[in-house]
Amino acid sequence: MEVEASKAAMSYTPVNQQPLASPPLGDRSVRMGCPYCGKLVVSQTTYQRGMLTYVASLVVGSLGGSLCCLCLIPCCSDDFKDVEHRCPACDGYFGTFKR
Ligand SMILES: [Zn+2]
Repeated sequence: MEVEASKAAMSYTPVNQQPLASPPLGDRSVRMGCPYCGKLVVSQTTYQRGMLTYVASLVVGSLGGSLCCLCLIPCCSDDFKDVEHRCPACDGYFGTFKR
Protein backbone atom coordinates (compact mmCIF):
# COMPACT_ATOMS: atom_id res chain seq x y z
CA MET A 1 0.00 0.00 0.00
CA GLU A 2 1.21 3.50 -0.78
CA VAL A 3 0.08 4.84 2.59
CA GLU A 4 2.20 2.31 4.46
CA ALA A 5 5.22 3.20 2.35
CA SER A 6 4.95 6.91 3.06
CA LYS A 7 4.56 6.26 6.79
CA ALA A 8 7.75 4.23 6.81
CA ALA A 9 9.59 6.99 4.97
CA MET A 10 8.44 9.64 7.45
CA SER A 11 9.35 7.59 10.52
CA TYR A 12 12.88 7.04 9.27
CA THR A 13 15.36 9.26 11.04
CA PRO A 14 19.10 9.14 10.41
CA VAL A 15 21.15 8.33 13.49
CA ASN A 16 23.65 11.16 13.37
CA GLN A 17 22.78 12.82 16.66
CA GLN A 18 24.45 11.79 19.88
CA PRO A 19 22.15 11.91 22.89
CA LEU A 20 23.28 14.19 25.69
CA ALA A 21 24.56 11.59 28.10
CA SER A 22 24.69 12.80 31.66
CA PRO A 23 27.07 10.98 33.99
CA PRO A 24 25.63 9.44 37.14
CA LEU A 25 25.48 12.02 39.92
CA GLY A 26 27.52 11.22 42.99
CA ASP A 27 28.68 13.11 46.05
CA ARG A 28 31.31 14.99 44.01
CA SER A 29 31.17 17.49 41.17
CA VAL A 30 30.91 15.99 37.71
CA ARG A 31 31.89 17.46 34.34
CA MET A 32 28.88 17.45 32.07
CA GLY A 33 27.05 19.35 29.37
CA CYS A 34 24.34 21.56 30.82
CA PRO A 35 20.95 20.70 29.26
CA TYR A 36 19.74 24.26 29.97
CA CYS A 37 22.47 26.56 28.64
CA GLY A 38 24.43 24.00 26.61
CA LYS A 39 27.78 24.81 28.18
CA LEU A 40 30.30 22.23 29.33
CA VAL A 41 30.46 22.81 33.05
CA VAL A 42 31.55 21.21 36.29
CA SER A 43 28.48 20.82 38.42
CA GLN A 44 28.19 22.93 41.55
CA THR A 45 27.45 20.72 44.54
CA THR A 46 25.56 21.73 47.64
CA TYR A 47 25.24 19.50 50.67
CA GLN A 48 21.72 19.43 51.98
CA ARG A 49 20.36 17.97 55.13
CA GLY A 50 17.25 15.92 54.75
CA MET A 51 14.19 17.79 55.92
CA LEU A 52 13.44 15.15 58.52
CA THR A 53 16.95 15.39 59.94
CA TYR A 54 16.73 19.18 60.02
CA VAL A 55 13.38 19.24 61.81
CA ALA A 56 14.48 16.55 64.26
CA SER A 57 17.57 18.61 65.11
CA LEU A 58 15.45 21.69 65.82
CA VAL A 59 13.01 19.77 67.99
CA VAL A 60 15.72 18.00 69.94
CA GLY A 61 17.71 21.22 70.28
CA SER A 62 14.70 23.14 71.62
CA LEU A 63 13.96 20.52 74.25
CA GLY A 64 16.99 21.31 76.35
CA GLY A 65 20.72 21.90 76.46
CA SER A 66 21.34 18.51 77.97
CA LEU A 67 20.28 16.91 74.71
CA CYS A 68 22.30 19.16 72.42
CA CYS A 69 24.85 16.46 71.77
CA LEU A 70 22.13 14.44 70.08
CA CYS A 71 21.15 17.20 67.66
CA LEU A 72 24.76 17.72 66.60
CA ILE A 73 25.10 14.20 65.31
CA PRO A 74 22.91 14.58 62.18
CA CYS A 75 24.21 18.13 61.57
CA CYS A 76 27.89 17.33 61.49
CA SER A 77 27.90 14.14 59.50
CA ASP A 78 27.91 14.33 55.70
CA ASP A 79 26.50 10.83 55.70
CA PHE A 80 23.07 12.30 56.35
CA LYS A 81 23.24 14.93 53.64
CA ASP A 82 21.99 14.81 50.07
CA VAL A 83 24.13 16.39 47.37
CA GLU A 84 22.41 18.77 44.97
CA HIS A 85 24.01 19.40 41.57
CA ARG A 86 23.46 22.69 39.75
CA CYS A 87 24.90 24.49 36.74
CA PRO A 88 27.36 27.21 37.88
CA ALA A 89 26.58 29.26 34.76
CA CYS A 90 22.78 29.32 34.62
CA ASP A 91 21.85 27.72 37.98
CA GLY A 92 19.99 24.96 36.18
CA TYR A 93 19.05 22.02 38.34
CA PHE A 94 20.74 18.76 37.34
CA GLY A 95 19.60 16.47 40.10
CA THR A 96 20.20 15.36 43.65
CA PHE A 97 22.34 12.48 44.83
CA LYS A 98 20.41 10.75 47.57
CA ARG A 99 22.13 8.80 50.31
ZN1 LIG B 1 23.67 25.85 32.49
